[in-house]
Amino acid sequence: MALDICRACHRPGESLRHIVSGCSHLANGEYLHRHNQVARIVHQQLALRFGLIDFEMPYYRYDPTSVLENSSALLYWDRTIITDRYITANRPDIVLVDRLVRRAIIVDITIPHDDNLVKAEKEKVSKYLDLADEITDMWNVESIVIVPIVVSVNGLLAKSFDQHLKKLSLGCWIKGRIQKAVLETARIELPMLPSCLNGSPALVNAALVDPRQGGRTSLGASQVAAGFKRRKTVEFVSSSGGLSVDMMMTDDLPTFKKQTD
Ligand SMILES: [Zn+2]
Repeated sequence: MALDICRACHRPGESLRHIVSGCSHLANGEYLHRHNQVARIVHQQLALRFGLIDFEMPYYRYDPTSVLENSSALLYWDRTIITDRYITANRPDIVLVDRLVRRAIIVDITIPHDDNLVKAEKEKVSKYLDLADEITDMWNVESIVIVPIVVSVNGLLAKSFDQHLKKLSLGCWIKGRIQKAVLETARIELPMLPSCLNGSPALVNAALVDPRQGGRTSLGASQVAAGFKRRKTVEFVSSSGGLSVDMMMTDDLPTFKKQTD
């Protein structure tokens, strides 16, 4: 009998897909952390660009301030926008107002599974249309734009990603940093199964060598090597030509079979 009950949420179906993006138990911890890493990168670069902070620090140590403002910009981090009309989606990850051109930008980050990139992007835009209307009315801005930052759990980016970066006036180099942040945080440890014979916890570990330095990506998946079935090459969208990363992929984590006599 094969055991495929998820060790985190205890529901049936512990596939790799479930572990990296579908598990309710991991949503508020691992997934939120991964999401916030990407949001920090974007927030810090916007804050630097508008002179709202003085120096850059590693994004994983950067703790965004809820409200930053000066004469040229206003930058919100994870703040509920108070509106006259009741709106459900009123707390985007980042809101920026460029005061010189009187333009507001709603930025929201999402990290879907690979095959949901385009859908996730569209959903993010429609989700904040009402808020965009309200902000235009309330804040005396001339224009408003919704910028979805969508990167898949495996670091894939939609083709439209460059256009979105342009709206934020952020350089394309940031793509590599975002991809790296997502893959580095794709490290989810699961509790040991009682029947696990080798005694080590199953580990989905996507440690990544910085691709910009020409390093190779290596997935430290030795702990689950026995369960990996196929090798898959993932093409990253990159302005500097194809950045291809070898990844070990599998549809399922190893299943542990009960010993038969
Ligand atoms: Zn689960």
